[in-house]
Amino acid sequence: MKLFKFKGGVKPDPNKTVSTQLPMTAAPLVARYVVPLHQSVGGTPRPIVTVGDHVLKGQRVGEADGWVSAAVHAPTSGTVVEVGPHIIPHPSGLPTDCVVIEADGKDTWIERTPFDMSTATPDAVREYLRDMGIVGMGGAVFPSHVKLAVPKGKQVEQLIINGAECEPFITCDDRLMREQAEDVIQGSALFGKLVQANKVLIGIEDNKPEAIAAMKAAQTALNAPVEIITVPTIYPTGGAKELIRVLTGKEVPGSRRSTDFGVQVFNVATVQSAWRAITQGEPLISRIVTLSGAVGESRNWSVPIGMPICDLVALAQPKPEMDGVIMGGPMMGFRVPTTDAPVIKATNSLIVHAPGLFPPKPQELPCIRCGSCATACPQELQPFELYWWSRASKFDQLEKYKLFDCIECGCCDYVCPSHIPLVNYFRFAKSEIQAEQREKKVADAARERFEFREERAEREKREKAERLAKANAARQAAEAAAAAAEAAAPKAEEAAPDISSHPHQASTPIAVDNHPVLDAGAKQAAIAAAVERARVKREQHAGKPGSDAA
Ligand code: SF4
Ligand code: SF4
Repeated sequence: MKLFKFKGGVKPDPNKTVSTQLPMTAAPLVARYVVPLHQSVGGTPRPIVTVGDHVLKGQRVGEADGWVSAAVHAPTSGTVVEVGPHIIPHPSGLPTDCVVIEADGKDTWIERTPFDMSTATPDAVREYLRDMGIVGMGGAVFPSHVKLAVPKGKQVEQLIINGAECEPFITCDDRLMREQAEDVIQGSALFGKLVQANKVLIGIEDNKPEAIAAMKAAQTALNAPVEIITVPTIYPTGGAKELIRVLTGKEVPGSRRSTDFGVQVFNVATVQSAWRAITQGEPLISRIVTLSGAVGESRNWSVPIGMPICDLVALAQPKPEMDGVIMGGPMMGFRVPTTDAPVIKATNSLIVHAPGLFPPKPQELPCIRCGSCATACPQELQPFELYWWSRASKFDQLEKYKLFDCIECGCCDYVCPSHIPLVNYFRFAKSEIQAEQREKKVADAARERFEFREERAEREKREKAERLAKANAARQAAEAAAAAAEAAAPKAEEAAPDISSHPHQASTPIAVDNHPVLDAGAKQAAIAAAVERARVKREQHAGKPGSDAA
């Protein structure tokens, strides 16, 4: 198969051998697990347990909040002792709501029922995966069911399963492919079926020969409709857009989605966990974590989500000079704010940090405009421009130079002869812009609320004035009519002729209003009679007790 190249990239020391020598091991049970509710892109799941509840391993403790969200589950059986904020491994160091479970030591599962795929609709499969908490395990933690819903009118030509794992030190996908190749192949084929992909391509970097061999053997044994493609080792081939470029030759611009170009991408660990959820009824409650760095024993562990990082690190015999822990790799990772923070779904690697392992960077020097950073950038950005505008806090310029297309891969940092921590500048600028956008959103919402209130008050005032004007007009019209009637009544009386001798007066009352053919004389008589009746009535009324005249 013809492969393509992406622009830029670097070749850092892989440092992978040391953690791939030992087989994966399940981490032992610990006393407490801290399960963050928000572990995926999208809405924060709502807690559905309260303090004092006894939960089983695999029981849902937080349900998805909306479509772009994924449920979270108890990693072991025990008692919920707290639902509240705890610091999680995130660069912000901010706390977020977690369900804290005190383990009962029994590790008792819920009843696990495989999902019946034979009768399920694609929508039902996606809902099931959401409720089983399946998210992207490559670090992005995007809910997988959302990515499996192919937009209307789009066809997935290539479904890419990412087994490149290009970042130094990280080997969790390597060990997964070596040890559970059949699950990965089955999951890949399943996802290919769900998105009706024309082709399923599994890309693996050529520095993982054992994984490639295991995957090819599993593919042959299962006769699965997937292809295993070996790709050259160059950082960051494991970036979704870079792997798409290598395998298909398609360039996906920063602002576009890969599905616009007929491609969708999932990580190998994602398809494996989805396959286990469907065939074993097991939600995503654990993940493989590479634990390496300044430790006595580097290896991959199968770790329950929620296990405190300090408990996991203790298993690897950390060296006394340890001074922190990096989550992720040395290129894109970050120092965890505290080792009390738990392992989360995004924790693919923990590197125990020590000054000897990662010597401090030399003093930052001025940019010499050498352009090395631009040559190394796989996103074809101009990092030195981004650096200048970040330093100057010129956010409009940063947008012009496509700051948000930066995937924070660190290639520019890696090659910069002036040792400028470029990615730190970009992260800072991004967070400033996002904070500004958030503030603007809040201010806009407040302004809209104020304008709406003002407009409503204005409208109510206007409507009240109109109602008053109408009422005034009606009153005036009524008064005018009454005055006219008053004025008209005595004149008619004065003008009334003597009708006592009229032939109709005594015997036949005349219905004046309805009489169509009264001649002039009869009409006069009728009017006179009516006037006379009115006069009599007035006199009678004037004689009544309680009347004005009385
Ligand atoms: S590599 Fe460093 S010194 Fe060279 S242009 Fe980029 S930021 Fe400047
Ligand atoms: S960190 Fe950003 S700017 Fe630097 S090389 Fe990577 S994508 Fe380019």
